[in-house]
Amino acid sequence: MPNHRRRILLVSFNVAGHDSLALGYIKAFALNAPTVARQTEIEILGFSNEEGNVRQALYYMTEFKPHLIGFSCYVWSMGTILELARSVKQIMPRVPLIAGGPEVGPMADEYLEEHPALDVVVHDEGETVFLDLIRYFFAGKGRLEDIAGISFRRDQEVVRNTDRTPIKDLDKIPSPYLTGVLTPRDGVTYLQSFRGCPFRCGFCYEAGRHKMLRFFSYERVKAEVALVMGDPSIRSFHFVDSVFNLNPKHLGKLASLLQKANRYNTGLRTIEVFTEQVDEETVRYLIQAGVQSVETGPQTAIAETQKRIGRYFDAEKFSRGVRLMQEAGIDVWCDLIIGLPGDNFFRCVFSVAYTMGLGPARIVISILHVLPGTPLFEKAERFGMAFDPAPPHYVIANDSFPFDQIYNAVLFSSSAAKEYNVALP
Ligand code: SF4
Repeated sequence: MPNHRRRILLVSFNVAGHDSLALGYIKAFALNAPTVARQTEIEILGFSNEEGNVRQALYYMTEFKPHLIGFSCYVWSMGTILELARSVKQIMPRVPLIAGGPEVGPMADEYLEEHPALDVVVHDEGETVFLDLIRYFFAGKGRLEDIAGISFRRDQEVVRNTDRTPIKDLDKIPSPYLTGVLTPRDGVTYLQSFRGCPFRCGFCYEAGRHKMLRFFSYERVKAEVALVMGDPSIRSFHFVDSVFNLNPKHLGKLASLLQKANRYNTGLRTIEVFTEQVDEETVRYLIQAGVQSVETGPQTAIAETQKRIGRYFDAEKFSRGVRLMQEAGIDVWCDLIIGLPGDNFFRCVFSVAYTMGLGPARIVISILHVLPGTPLFEKAERFGMAFDPAPPHYVIANDSFPFDQIYNAVLFSSSAAKEYNVALP
């Protein structure tokens, strides 16, 4: 019998071997609608970002013959996605191309104006919006003008609708793992216990989004954890929560449910922690939760810079938090960003020396990306920020950090961190 189901392709470019959790949520939410589940086939296509092989992606897309395509857009994959979208539009001109994700959401209208291959851009969270778009494109339900949370092109003009209120009850989004949309795999399984972040770090796209925190129920997290930890082949997994040690109550509950489910000595790796808040109680919970490694700042060790980028930093508390975790056997990875306003070459050298002095398991250096929608993007003029408007939006200079110093700081910090990381046992 011929297959008359409409086909949707959800495409992402990820770090090699990883799945897109965001697309897992989109698919699980869409398939929860009985008509969509009956009448559509949704496929997630994940490619390695390192290869960024547009022609290979195009080949798979032509094989699948989709009626609708959604792209998950991040700073690291945007160039590849735009190249792919341009090619897809040439050979499948009638297939609507929808882009969503943190790279395009804050600049939805600009992306539509500059990239005619895109038809719709989602402003923010995609689950409910994408379901409305499926109903609009496949069942002719409603009008695009009435779908909150999108911008779209009509007769060469970009139309911007109002933003959509985020889903309050996160449990309405079925778990991609419990529904079988994503399969838990060793080292590359990501769970989430809440969305949002209470902090406002200037360089982070989370900071430009929801201050209001929304939680999945503990029953839901418990069921996901039981599934993941019940599989002995999974030696470690991750939580993508913005701050794993959000507060002692939440951490205590998570730690307890993780400990109860941990039958095979499964570990949690590279979770994000707010180190100044780490005390003896936090460390007990982290150990109880099975945390083996954490990732944290300081991003810079210069207090003035921290203030400018909206971060709280207390060198003494930070060092103490790192030490407490290390003493408990937890690997601490420290991140530094080059190019922050307030820093300069010598301040970067100081930050590298301070961070090395903490004896972290790894130092991770990155160059500042001035991401759309982030506080630094909004305040770029105030800080004399010059940066590439095209992704990955690398900083070029700012009022304290001229380009030649940024260039030298990147060379110095990367080499120093490389030597340090290689020298570790
Ligand atoms: S860097 Fe972390 S703590 Fe800061 S805003 Fe982003 S997610 Fe929140």
